[in-house]
Amino acid sequence: QIAYVNGSFVPMSEAKVSILDRGFLFADGIYEVAAVLDGKLIDSASHLARLQRSVGEIALALPETTDRIQEIQKELIARNNLVNGMVYLEVTRGADTGRDFAFPKGVKPTLIMFTSVKDIVNAESARTGIGVITVPDIRWARRDIKSVALLAQVLAKQAAAEAGAGEAWMVEDGQVTEGGSSSCFILTQDDVIVTRHNSSAILPGCTRKAVVALAEERQLRVEERPFTVAEALAAKEAFITSATAFVQAVVTIDGKPVANGKPGPMTKRLREIYVDFAKATAV
Ligand code: PLP
Repeated sequence: QIAYVNGSFVPMSEAKVSILDRGFLFADGIYEVAAVLDGKLIDSASHLARLQRSVGEIALALPETTDRIQEIQKELIARNNLVNGMVYLEVTRGADTGRDFAFPKGVKPTLIMFTSVKDIVNAESARTGIGVITVPDIRWARRDIKSVALLAQVLAKQAAAEAGAGEAWMVEDGQVTEGGSSSCFILTQDDVIVTRHNSSAILPGCTRKAVVALAEERQLRVEERPFTVAEALAAKEAFITSATAFVQAVVTIDGKPVANGKPGPMTKRLREIYVDFAKATAV
């Protein structure tokens, strides 16, 4: 396995950053995860646009242009002979000489990337659907920034894993915000696809954005608004979207079945539509 660290391609065992790196000390960094299908990047422009927005929101300048970042991602995919999986990218404010909270002057940002293998299209969980648990959303108020401060999601997803569930749905003021690492959707009894509107309460999911656009292009009814867990349990279907899951059915919530407890036809259809879109627009 080859990783990218600050301008160099190096074996994973030699891919290191300083203990003074602000990503390590303060979670002062941003990340992105893009899927790879047949050796190509999925929805790349959308992920790079979100990267640019996230770094802007924390006043961090990317050390490379987004075009160059895409080139590096492609080179890493090639060097690792990656067919299906993902590219992880992280940029931090870099390593200073001490531990000042305020931005240090003259420090170069750290940029790292690595790949991992995953057969997203043929994942078993896509066929069976997943169970989710609900947890209180204890995160900070700027969830629209894809920051590496993920402790709340680590705890939420660990609780899900211990409960034998595939994801944790986070709940705030009685309404679902999003999954630990996914956007949440339901299909109401009158066939409206509902997903929470973008705001600082959630990450603007790239897959969410594509699925909403693809659904609207097909004249499917979409409403962007919050929904409750009770509404999800009374829904026809529920599903999640993310770069590394695409579209996956949610078949139970806190152990209670959604409809008949099986992936529904709309979820399957949207998954197929998304996979077609992903393949057609891969770079
Ligand atoms: N919401 C959160 C909190 C996430 O971490 C992620 C992805 O990791 C998503 C939503 C889904 O976003 P995307 O579709 O861009 O992967």
